[in-house]
Amino acid sequence: EAKQSGKNKYHLFDSAQDAEAKSRAIAQDDVARGLAHQEFVLFYQPKVHMQSGAIIGFEALVRWRHPARGLLLPGAFLPAIERHALNEALGAWVLDTALAQMSQWQVQGLKLSVSVNIAARQLQQPDFATQLADLLADHSDVEPHLLELEVLETSALEDIAMSAKILQECHRQGVRFAMDDFGTGYSSLTYLRHLPVETLKIDQSFVRDMLEDQSDLSIVRGVIGLAAAFHREVIAEGVESVAHGQRLIELGCALGQGYAIARPMPADQVVGWCQEWTPPLAWTQG
Ligand code: C2E
Ligand code: MG
Ligand code: MG
Ligand code: MG
Repeated sequence: EAKQSGKNKYHLFDSAQDAEAKSRAIAQDDVARGLAHQEFVLFYQPKVHMQSGAIIGFEALVRWRHPARGLLLPGAFLPAIERHALNEALGAWVLDTALAQMSQWQVQGLKLSVSVNIAARQLQQPDFATQLADLLADHSDVEPHLLELEVLETSALEDIAMSAKILQECHRQGVRFAMDDFGTGYSSLTYLRHLPVETLKIDQSFVRDMLEDQSDLSIVRGVIGLAAAFHREVIAEGVESVAHGQRLIELGCALGQGYAIARPMPADQVVGWCQEWTPPLAWTQG
């Protein structure tokens, strides 16, 4: 009787797994097809020095112009390929496309720094640094220091020795690193010293509620202090309102990214945005 129900449970679980595997397989095929049909695009969101309005660069954020489902955000398709080789294929496409875009902007007279998000799996490829070197050679008009790689704090932590080695190999090529979603990964201070990471990006979950929530405010303060202690840059993501920006400036975080500045935009809007952008008065009069 017990054995029987155990067996049934097993079967239930098994078919649920099958269904999950099936939907995952479909999504993966769909991603492969989307890549082949050039349905992916990069949107760009500015990072600025809030008080002066100086544009620091743009973060490239992948979008999928899905023929049936419309414009999809990464949350809708990245999880499906998280543990799949397509992840590396998409990642390579993103890097190549961002570099090509940077060189196109340079032709238009705009020398912009661009940040690209790197997935944990990408960083675990032993030849990641070599791939990056090849891409930089393909786009030799782009100075490597203009490229910033955003690495999730949580993925850098997965295999610190390996991450450190790969980060250092890439760093030697001149690219810069930011640690994304900082504050979510319980980083130990000692290893932070050993990673060649120029910038800490305060996770938007802390920024969002910092005006009301004392513990989130403490974390924001803590990351700003940590960055200062380790001589790293610090930037806040998720600057949703002028008030958020103002508070961040007061706390000593000069750099910001978020809806109060601009939403992620298609590449062809970037030049116009750069010409028109002016910071809110509340930020410049501080
Ligand atoms: P992320 O790297 O932390 O990027 C910031 C996310 O916050 C973006 O979401 C951006 O659109 C959103 N955001 C920006 N400002 C605000 C704001 O003021 N308020 C709020 N609520 N959200 C804001 P998005 O584009 O949906 O990307 C989500 C995540 O997907 C990214 O988080 C990143 O981890 C990942 N991702 C995006 N593009 C790529 C990519 O090309 N490769 C990889 N591996 N991951 C990517
Ligand atoms: Mg990012
Ligand atoms: Mg982030
Ligand atoms: Mg995030």
